[in-house]
Amino acid sequence: MTRNDKIPLLDLVTPHLELEEDLFAVFRTLLKTAGFIGGPMVEGFEREFAQFCGAEHCVGVGNGTDALRLALIAAGVQPGDTVVTVPNTFIATTEAISQAGARPDFVDVEERTYNMDARKLHEYLEMQCRLDWTGKLLNRKTRSPVTAIVPVHLYGQMADMDPILELAERYNLFVVEDACQAHGAEYFSSKEKRRRKAGSMGRAAAFSFYPGKNLGACGEAGAVTTDDEKIALCVRMLRDHGQAQKYYHDLEGYNSRLDAIQAGVLRAKLPYLAEWNRKRREVAVGYHQLLQPLAEIIMPPYEPSSSNAVYHLYVIRSKDRERLQRHLAEASIGTGVHYPVALHLQKAYLGMGYQEGDFPIAEKAAAEVLSLPMYPQLRPEQQQRVAKEVLDFFGCHTSVAA
Ligand SMILES: *Cc1c(COP(=O)(O)O)cnc(C)c1O
Repeated sequence: MTRNDKIPLLDLVTPHLELEEDLFAVFRTLLKTAGFIGGPMVEGFEREFAQFCGAEHCVGVGNGTDALRLALIAAGVQPGDTVVTVPNTFIATTEAISQAGARPDFVDVEERTYNMDARKLHEYLEMQCRLDWTGKLLNRKTRSPVTAIVPVHLYGQMADMDPILELAERYNLFVVEDACQAHGAEYFSSKEKRRRKAGSMGRAAAFSFYPGKNLGACGEAGAVTTDDEKIALCVRMLRDHGQAQKYYHDLEGYNSRLDAIQAGVLRAKLPYLAEWNRKRREVAVGYHQLLQPLAEIIMPPYEPSSSNAVYHLYVIRSKDRERLQRHLAEASIGTGVHYPVALHLQKAYLGMGYQEGDFPIAEKAAAEVLSLPMYPQLRPEQQQRVAKEVLDFFGCHTSVAA
């Protein structure tokens, strides 16, 4: 390998070439039947993905944003409600809340996991909300009913679900997981004394199969998982114009079906997902070891003992991020920033009236996070080169040869 071989942030070519025959077979089958929408490929994938997640039902939809929107509507979010989430996520999380007719509100995250801080959620529910005379929880300022929580399993690590679910129960809220980055991630619930998969803990959960996710389609795709048959049925109707029977519309729905081609692609890839996730974990261990001398400075990803993360991203921190990113770019190493502006400070949400300083942990993360190349096929020597460049940038010289 020459010095200038590019190491991308993620490699979407290799895994598809490795599965070329299986993927072609999907196309050939569908060309013969022309069953492009719905049908056995979609049903087969839904069955297998539900099983993978340890959920009773899976309903395939057009993308992850729709999965979250339809899950929220089906779980019972009403127009005018407030739905609590975190400010350091992809905007799709809050778009889905708004598109369900609700108002997103935020609580800050934990410094080390970047996930929803259950203590801050508690504080929000205690201090910024009150019960009205009917026992409904209202936001004190907006008087809007607070009805749901959307924890985001960011970077492939599940949020601390035990205390979040406990608060949800205590305040009569329901939880919809944003599992769009966490296919296969696990959380050990001390309450239940067992491991739970992402997508199996909330009233419902949303997955995205955008190509760059741990399980990606060859285009747009998403899914809702749930144990609640009513929610599953409702999402099935909502994704297909509110009909259970063709041209009999029980309600006004959407057009957000899962293409059979995408379902076939996902079905072909699903058997590899656990192994790909295992390799991602191996890559993470490699970075951890290689970057150990900088651990105090770059704050490598932290996994609580309850978590088995699937490393959708490997995120480090630097106060000098832009220069570090440029240094790596000059060494032909791709990086990313997930995400550079916390949602409450985005132009799109200026109208919400938030200011800098409102969610300091999320804001600090936005200023400092940097995602290093992370994908199952990343080779040890490539990883060593990435690590060497990071160490060099900080003037740290070790015996690691690259
Ligand atoms: C990717 C993603 C989404 C949206 O998924 P799409 O399929 O792109 O609509 C939502 N939330 C998070 C956290 C994501 O990473």
